[in-house]
Amino acid sequence: MKAAPEAQKRLLDLAELDSVIDRLAHRRRTLPELAEIDERSKSFARLATQVIEAETEAGDLAREQAKAESDVDAVRTRADRDQKRLDSGAVTSPRDLASLQSEIASLHKRQGDLEEVVLEIMERKEAADTKVTDLVAQRDEIAAALATAEARRDEALKEIDKESGEVQGRRATVTGDIPTDLLGLYEKLKGQYGVGAAMLRGGRCQGCKVALSIAEMNRIKAAPHDEVLRCEECRRILVRTAESGL
Ligand SMILES: [Zn+2]
Repeated sequence: MKAAPEAQKRLLDLAELDSVIDRLAHRRRTLPELAEIDERSKSFARLATQVIEAETEAGDLAREQAKAESDVDAVRTRADRDQKRLDSGAVTSPRDLASLQSEIASLHKRQGDLEEVVLEIMERKEAADTKVTDLVAQRDEIAAALATAEARRDEALKEIDKESGEVQGRRATVTGDIPTDLLGLYEKLKGQYGVGAAMLRGGRCQGCKVALSIAEMNRIKAAPHDEVLRCEECRRILVRTAESGL
């Protein structure tokens, strides 16, 4: 392949810009915020599940409490009704009176037992409510930290995008100076080796850092200026400059 020496030198500018683009892409993939966001998202999901479980438990206990309180009310209503019958003097038979008094006593005992149950449920409900409050606070704290990390990530990405945009603009200018076939070869080699072109500096390929043999240097010295050379070692396009040691 043939290309003007100036066009070949532009490959070095292109390779430098491409290394900046690669560094920016690497920075984008390895932002510390990404790991932090991942970790906090997991914590948030775990806490959100725990909040739902705790809320379900508190809800179950609220229903249990309501049911126990309504049991207490039913027993109290029945005891009040019996007491009224007793107070009304309508019941006169000693046996009926004794039976009524016994029922009132047993209802009072039952009411006491049920009130114990209500108190016990209320205590459990209170503990469940405290747990919900604690977990919600923890979840909200994680959500706030997550939002902060996401904002920092977005800010970093915005900066990387801005820099990438500038570099891409400069790259477009440089590629405009390079003939299509040479650019095609460069892109192909870049795809294969990561870097498509390297400078020959002081008899050494700057792509693989290998020193060229005397025979190889002689071959390059004899090659026309517009011949596109390749490094025998790393196969990259080898660009001659004033620093090549030729
Ligand atoms: Zn090389």
